[in-house]
Amino acid sequence: MCGISTDISERKAAEKLIKESERRWKFALESGGDGVWDWDLTSGKVFLSPRCMEILNFSEQDSRNNFREWETTIHPEDSPKLMADLQTHLDNLSERFSNEHRVRFGDGWRWILTRGLVIERDANGKALRMIGTQTDISERKQLQWLQMERIVRGSPEPTLLVAADGSILLANQPAATVFRYTLDGLLGCNVDDLVPFPASLNHAALREKFMREDKARPMSANRLLWALRADGSQFPVEISLNPLEVNNQRTVLVSVHDISERKRLERDMQLMAMIHKAIGEAVMVADADNRILAINDAFTQLTGYTEEEVVGKSTDILKSGRHGPDFYQHMWHSLMQTGHWQGEIWNKRKNGEIYHEWLVINSIYSERGELERRVAMFSEITEQKHIEQAIWRQANFDPLTDLANRRMFQDRLNQEIKKAARDRNSLAVMLLDLDRFKEINDTLGHGMGDVLLKEAANRLLGCVREVDTVARLGGDEFTIILGELESESDTDRVAQAILHSLSEPFRLGEELAYISVSIGITLYPQDAATPEQLMKNADQAMYNAKQQGRNRYSYFTAEMEQVAQNRMRLTNDLRLALVNGEFELNYQPVVDLATGFMHKAEALLRWHHPKRGMVSPAEFIPLAEETGLIVDIGDWVFRVAAQQIALWRASHAPDFKISVNKSPVQFARHNRGDSQWLAYMQSLGLAGQAIVIEITEGLLLDADHAVRDHLYAYRDAGVQVAIDDFGTGYSSLSYLKKFDIDYLKIDQSFVRNLDSDTSDLILCEAIIVMAHKLGLKVVAEGIETQTQMELLRAAGCDFGQGYLFSKPLAAAEFVHLFGTNLLAGQTAPAARADSSIAKLFGGEQRRD
Ligand code: C2E
Ligand code: MG
Ligand code: MG
Repeated sequence: MCGISTDISERKAAEKLIKESERRWKFALESGGDGVWDWDLTSGKVFLSPRCMEILNFSEQDSRNNFREWETTIHPEDSPKLMADLQTHLDNLSERFSNEHRVRFGDGWRWILTRGLVIERDANGKALRMIGTQTDISERKQLQWLQMERIVRGSPEPTLLVAADGSILLANQPAATVFRYTLDGLLGCNVDDLVPFPASLNHAALREKFMREDKARPMSANRLLWALRADGSQFPVEISLNPLEVNNQRTVLVSVHDISERKRLERDMQLMAMIHKAIGEAVMVADADNRILAINDAFTQLTGYTEEEVVGKSTDILKSGRHGPDFYQHMWHSLMQTGHWQGEIWNKRKNGEIYHEWLVINSIYSERGELERRVAMFSEITEQKHIEQAIWRQANFDPLTDLANRRMFQDRLNQEIKKAARDRNSLAVMLLDLDRFKEINDTLGHGMGDVLLKEAANRLLGCVREVDTVARLGGDEFTIILGELESESDTDRVAQAILHSLSEPFRLGEELAYISVSIGITLYPQDAATPEQLMKNADQAMYNAKQQGRNRYSYFTAEMEQVAQNRMRLTNDLRLALVNGEFELNYQPVVDLATGFMHKAEALLRWHHPKRGMVSPAEFIPLAEETGLIVDIGDWVFRVAAQQIALWRASHAPDFKISVNKSPVQFARHNRGDSQWLAYMQSLGLAGQAIVIEITEGLLLDADHAVRDHLYAYRDAGVQVAIDDFGTGYSSLSYLKKFDIDYLKIDQSFVRNLDSDTSDLILCEAIIVMAHKLGLKVVAEGIETQTQMELLRAAGCDFGQGYLFSKPLAAAEFVHLFGTNLLAGQTAPAARADSSIAKLFGGEQRRD
């Protein structure tokens, strides 16, 4: 036997070394906590280290069984990738194999990192042996998740972590708030729930596409998305998407920006921009240093400056120079305090024109509270101002004289009273009425009347202080308020100055006109405390001044108040007088001065007042005229007189006439009256000649169409017309001719003082001559003495009327006294008045 002995110590030593080194690295790996495996791909056997079995939760048994079972322990979600990665390495397509995946671990899953390396391949490169490690990474994974959670939770932005299926894995409180969910509620949602229908239909598809994309890149969607809140309301959002691989899962980190506020602002900005461009208001934006930053079209239209011309310039270019430094100080003060100012201001256009605008300035501050911008909006009110001013002037001033009107006067009076009350002062209210202005107006025309009023207004202004108010109430009526009176003599002085000033002649075209004024004065607080009462007082005082003979002033007194009250009561009684049958007509003979025959009588109204007894027509006719009662009363007078003359004509003298007084007011009521009167006469079978109508001169001057028609109707019917009280008013001879007047009645004021050497006699003679030339007959009124009668008869006066012949008498008395004479004189043109009248003509005796 022979043999070869080989020393294998070295080999053994080497083998031992290898085993040891293998043990050492296994040990090293094992002690590092990793499991080690060794996979023989030819036999399919896998060696698992004890730690490896522990990690994989394998028993000895399991490991001996087919290792393929291992696959079944892998989380189905992780398995495909794991297998794919493994295959890649086995196919020698990757240098190293590494995969994180979950394996079943009791009821749950454990995260494992598997790494491996093919260490033997055959000549074809087919893998024969592979070794690797298993690392338990559950804890790391948990930490990772916690970190992820911390990141999401800690984000100030609304943030979601969304899984591939859309379920929300993580969310933070801001997200919950934005979507109006509780945090837990949101976590139970799918992102598709947060997208409103119908966009949600599309959303799932988009989401899946995004998840599927191989290289999902972070993307921020800047297109407008709509999101849905828990309460169903929608709001615009912008989202940014960050694809994240979390635990082998495709997830997306979504941050959501609620842009509703921004959208709102955008819309507002858009709107503002539109308004800025479109509105008629001029807009100017300036910086904190008042440099103009922007303007709109309206600004250019209004100021004439284009954008290029003003941007960068100071806002001062608009200053008009019309406001003092005070004004701007005020404005700046307000801007500093409140950031706001508004008011009216004069500014200047590019062409230098000054205009008036309504300006509103607002300020815009930065977040730190510093002034950033001032925005001025303005519109022109020059035009509007003009209109307003015109309206205001129209409402408060008399267009003719430029004096305050009634309204303004009342305002001022209220103010002055308040002021006087406060300062314990007194004030005077004057009411002025131009005497006989109407006549000027009528004779010289309204144009001249206006000139006179203007001039009178100027003169009045010249008589008072600047602080006093002169107003025109209308027509020829003026008022003056004298404030802060020192003493009553102040008022006297002003009143005298006015009387004097207005007595100066007025030049009206070619003519010189003379007027006077009647002034009523009342004092606050002596006479009254209220404006109404003061006005009433002044009116009474003025009335009194007129009564006293005009061209004077008169202070209000308590007696005037009495008089006024009496007038009022009398007026009230007058309303009932007609119904109560308190009127009666008296008749006064009108005698032919040449023959002593009585041609006619004048009907004169008498009022038997139940308490006061007889009230004179001089007292109640003006009241009846003022109240319009004269129309009904006048009708009654006419009917009674007509009946009377019809009676007398039948019973005594067929040619007898009665004259009836007719007030101008009765003519004014043109829808009534004369055709009716004429018809009434016809119904009585009375000829027109039976009646004479007595009118006043004024009526002719005033004559409008209605008056003329009446007068012509009388003429046509044969009714004669007499001008009563001739000489007291403004007379125009041409009128007498024009209207076919039949008689002039010389006013008794001329007759009263008739003496052989008075100027009145000359006047009477002149009137008589003139009247005769015009074909009128003359009646002298108020003849009381034989002398008067004789002078008048000598002057050629045709008729006479007066106490010398007879007082006005009641009808019965009239017939009783004159009846026989009327009968006796039937054949004569007119009956002689009575025997005593006849004697007068014989100069034997005068009647008492
Ligand atoms: P009148 O039409 O000028 O009437 C003449 C007035 O002079 C009457 O006053 C008469 O009584 C008065 N009179 C007559 N002779 C004399 C005299 O010798 N001496 C004095 N001192 N006076 C004399 P009466 O009746 O008081 O009437 C006053 C005025 O009232 C009338 O003035 C007339 O304008 C008006 N009047 C009277 N009745 C009526 C009427 O029915 N209708 C209208 N509208 N006015 C009337
Ligand atoms: Mg008369
Ligand atoms: Mg008369």
